This record gives sequence, structure tokens and C-alpha cells, in this order.
Amino acid sequence: MSDPRTNLFGLDRQGLRDFFAQAGEKPYRADQVMKWMYHRHVTEFALMTDVGKALRTKLEAVAEIVPPNVVFEKQSSDGTHKWLLGMDGANAIETVFIPDGTRGTLCVSSQVGCGLNCQFCSTATQGFNRNLSTAEIIGQVWVAARHLGNVPHHQRKLTNVVMMGMGEPLLNFDNVVRAMSIMRDDLGFGLANKRVTLSTAGLVPMIDRLSDESDVSLAVSLHAPTDELRTQLVPLNKKYPIAELLEACIRYAQRRPRTSITFEYTMMKGVNDQPEHARQLIKLMRKVPSKVNLIPFNPFTGTRFERSEESAIRAFQKILLDANVLTMVRRTRGDDIDAACGQLKGQVLDRTRRQAEFRRSLDGKVSDAA
Ligand code: SAH
Repeated sequence: MSDPRTNLFGLDRQGLRDFFAQAGEKPYRADQVMKWMYHRHVTEFALMTDVGKALRTKLEAVAEIVPPNVVFEKQSSDGTHKWLLGMDGANAIETVFIPDGTRGTLCVSSQVGCGLNCQFCSTATQGFNRNLSTAEIIGQVWVAARHLGNVPHHQRKLTNVVMMGMGEPLLNFDNVVRAMSIMRDDLGFGLANKRVTLSTAGLVPMIDRLSDESDVSLAVSLHAPTDELRTQLVPLNKKYPIAELLEACIRYAQRRPRTSITFEYTMMKGVNDQPEHARQLIKLMRKVPSKVNLIPFNPFTGTRFERSEESAIRAFQKILLDANVLTMVRRTRGDDIDAACGQLKGQVLDRTRRQAEFRRSLDGKVSDAA
């Protein structure tokens, strides 16, 4: 029989308060427990000294606080740190911390594998297995924050979270939104809204839902300026072509003054890195308050793509900058430990059986949201 205890990492502040209310306890007790969990990294009720003994005993019977299990971790020569976290007997996912001056960004996964089949991404080669639970998503942040030490807020090393690890976060909507609310809660990790970024391959109806239900920074994986090319690279483009995607981005930005949308563009030699592509991209970017993030392609075993030449990337950037499109080139980090963008693989067992299930859930989610 499975353990009937609730893992408290799965509940945001409201969920935790409801859980305590059901147990006949006051809401502030939930707040106390949250502080122990996220500010002090305590997972044992017995150590929560300001929680009464009777309540601690009661909690032990109905609840638990279980972070993901660190299967292995590795540090790159540039300071990037990668964790392989076991999610259940068969599956593991990767989480990457990237320090950069005073900024420290954690790249968090949302699914075990991914079903979108973007042609240049190594996560795609392993297929889709399942969605991560809220506890498994926030647990990644918790493991990294614990490793980085308990420091006062203004000195902390983990300053940003990007949902840019394995998986498509908008296909695991509820769990991702709940986890992002814990990231931004003062009783959780206390990150400002703009320091939590969700990156999507472009699920148009779910971008609108995100706009209604959460307030985070939005990044969109564009990678090509025309539908013809984008459909080859990101098959989801067939369902949601560029014009519709940009409309959704405009709606998202319109509701958030002073916000811009980040467009990720992975640079692949001879594929999407020509001056002509840059000029086409400028036309698209005129319509949306935007920033462009050029990502040099990171190779992985079996890929048919190659990284663009440095000179091609610089020339591409210059064309955009000359047209006043804010454009950055993302430095490649952690590639010596396979922790760079698009190199995350984890361990996904039993994936083929799940493919049909995934397709059904994709169709279901998309029509639910439409
Ligand atoms: N599914 C979401 C979240 C994953 S983000 C999304 O597509 O946005 C992962 C980012 O890394 C995306 O921008 C993705 O396009 C990029 N990426 C994937 N494979 C890559 C590779 N081999 N080299 C460089 N960037 C890659």
C-alpha cells in the first residue's frame, strides 16, 4: 500500500493552510511550517521547535516533507552545478545552477523527458515519460538552495529561476504554476515575479491561461523567423504558427506594463543563422515588446546540427542591434558536464509506453484550454 501521508512540498501557502484547517489547526501554523521548510531547510517535524508537541505528533502521522533524492551531482570548471535527481525508481531529471556575478540562475525541469520533439534538443531524443509533481518541481529549488547555504535574502546566491530544464512547463500547467507560487512566496523562496521565468515552445492557449493565473516573466523558444523553417525545428509550430504565437505574446505583454518577452533563438550553422533570417526576425520583433536571446547550439550525440560560427552569431546580433532590437548572446555554460541548454537528459526509462498517453494529454489540454 502506498504511504497515505501528504508530502508538504506539494502544497503552496493556501494549500498548506487548507491542509492545516482540515486538521483543525490555525492557518498561522502552516506559515510556521513553511518557514522551517524553505528558510531553514528543516524536513523533520521534531525539529520545529515553535510548533507544539501535540501538533508535531499529529503531523508526523499525516504528513511528510520529502525532497527529491540526489542521485549524483557535478560541478563544472566554470562554477555551473548540475544535479541528477531521482524522482521515482525509474526516472531522474536534471537541474542546473548557473552563477554569473551577483546573479545565480537555477534551471528547473517540469517533466520527465519531453514530447514536443524539437529537432535540436537532446531532451526530445528520450521521449516523454510523465509530468513532475509540484513537490518534485519545488524540490529542485529546495535542493539547490540547501546546497548554496542559508544566507540572508540580500546575499543569497540563488536569485533567479528559469523553467528551462527538461520538459514543456505549459503542458504541466497546474503543478508548474503552484511551484512558481512557492518560489515567489515570502514564506517560500521569496523571488520577485520578474525573476521567475517560464519558457515555452509556444502553446498559445496556455500562454493566455498563464496570463490569467500567474505573473512571471515569459520566454518563448522561437528559433526561426518563418513558419516553414520553424515547423521543421519545432513541430508544435504546425498547430500554433508564428503569427498566433506573437499575438499571444502581445496579449501577455499588454497586461504587464514595462514587461518584455524574451525570444530564445538557438543558432544552428547554415540552418537559421543567415543575415536574411535576422532581417525577417526584425520584422517579427517590431510587433512585440521583446528581447532576443541568441543561444549558440550545444551539440549532443547523434544530432545532425552544428553550432553557428562565432562570427555568424556576432553578425546576426549586429543586424538586430542596428535595428534597435535588444539582443544578447547567451554564454555557453556548463558544457563540460553536459549541463548546457538542450543537453539535459536525465534518465527516462519506460518512455515508449507513455508516448500515446502523452499525445492524448496534449490534445486534451489544448482543447480544454481553447
Ligand atoms: N519546452 C520549453 C522549456 C525548455 S527550455 C521551451 O521550449 O522553451 C530549453 C531552451 O533551450 C529552449 O529555448 C530550447 O530551445 C533551448 N535548446 C534546446 N536544445 C538546445 C541545444 N541543443 N542547444 C542550445 N539550446 C537548446
